[in-house]
Amino acid sequence: MTQDEIIAQADQYLMRTYGRFPLALVRGKGAYVWDAAGNRYLDFVAGLAVNALGHCHPRVVAAIRAQAGRLLHVSNLFHIEPQVQLARLLVENAALDRVFFCNSGAEAVEAAIKLARKYAKMRYGPERYEIITALNSFHGRTLAAITATGQPKYQQGFEPLPPGFRYVPFNDLAALREAVGEHTCAVMLEPVQGEGGVHVADTDYLRGVRALCDERGLLLILDEVQTGCGRTGRFFAHEHYGITPDIMALAKALGGGFPVGALLAREEVAAAFAPGDHASTFGGNPLACAAALAAVGTILEDGFLEQVNRTAGHFRLRLAQLQDRFPVVREVRGLGLLVGAELDAPVGRAVLERCRERGLLINCIGDSILRFIPPLVTTEKEVDAAVDILAAVLAAESGGKP
Ligand SMILES: *Cc1c(COP(=O)(O)O)cnc(C)c1O
Repeated sequence: MTQDEIIAQADQYLMRTYGRFPLALVRGKGAYVWDAAGNRYLDFVAGLAVNALGHCHPRVVAAIRAQAGRLLHVSNLFHIEPQVQLARLLVENAALDRVFFCNSGAEAVEAAIKLARKYAKMRYGPERYEIITALNSFHGRTLAAITATGQPKYQQGFEPLPPGFRYVPFNDLAALREAVGEHTCAVMLEPVQGEGGVHVADTDYLRGVRALCDERGLLLILDEVQTGCGRTGRFFAHEHYGITPDIMALAKALGGGFPVGALLAREEVAAAFAPGDHASTFGGNPLACAAALAAVGTILEDGFLEQVNRTAGHFRLRLAQLQDRFPVVREVRGLGLLVGAELDAPVGRAVLERCRERGLLINCIGDSILRFIPPLVTTEKEVDAAVDILAAVLAAESGGKP
């Protein structure tokens, strides 16, 4: 099909849930993708932080090919070798003890909510069910996940929402302390609010939250769906803070492009799930786990994360230079290769359009926050190419020093 045909049929047959760019991407390699008209783009969206290894990483492709010819799916009524191998690899690289596999971030968050409630009820009684989350957070699109998400725009129209959630400002420990009550069972946070505009948790804040949870007998759930698997330059973002969650949700980059999510928990907490308490038909199927084993194995190879940190340092340096040149760039922030640039005018959409015309795909949150989530394998040369495009666009859009 031509690009126009694909777009026309999308308009006719798909539900209108997405505002899509008028591009149909048909092929990818590394940090590049091609549309159906043959145009090449540098992909700093990376499937919304999914394509951590870029497009069609040879090790992931080979693992999927081999597993596809052996066994695609069997159900969790049986033991699955790649699932066990993946669970072991994750546990050996996390400070948590057990894994439950699912298919997406929202599903991992949903499982986290269920596990926290079950644990708290068993341990403290039926009145402990409330989960405190942050304003401006994002936890996914199922009913419980949009309720956990501290942004009314995701909730409106879908009421009644499930009860048992309460919201506090992010990075405000006093407000959290104030919000804890007799019903509270857990606190759920993202180490970096990704969809909410790339807001990084302060070190004192996250450490303070951990201490508060310990003091009040609350579970700390970290939603590392976006920040996990190397995105921030550590395998998990919470490693930057020197803390450990009790429960953690993963997805996005975990499968190297294949859909897979995971819930990890401490032994004592995980024990609250008895056989029959939770399940997922597709969760942890052989193909998904083979893909994830290849992806995680690659990210954990010696030197991989060091390279991510070098690339991230270079990117931040180049963006800081851009900030000096263009007053419209108000702030550059982020952790590792999860980077945001806040503009002081609502020109984000226009900048994003112009970048696309010049062969760079980026993401925009609201009207003024540019989000960059390039593949972790992006080279410094590719970073330079992206920043050069952005500089040319900013020069054309806003003027600035040459
Ligand atoms: C993307 C995201 C989710 C939802 O993941 P899906 O796979 O889209 O369900 C949940 N939490 C965070 C922090 C995310 O970034």
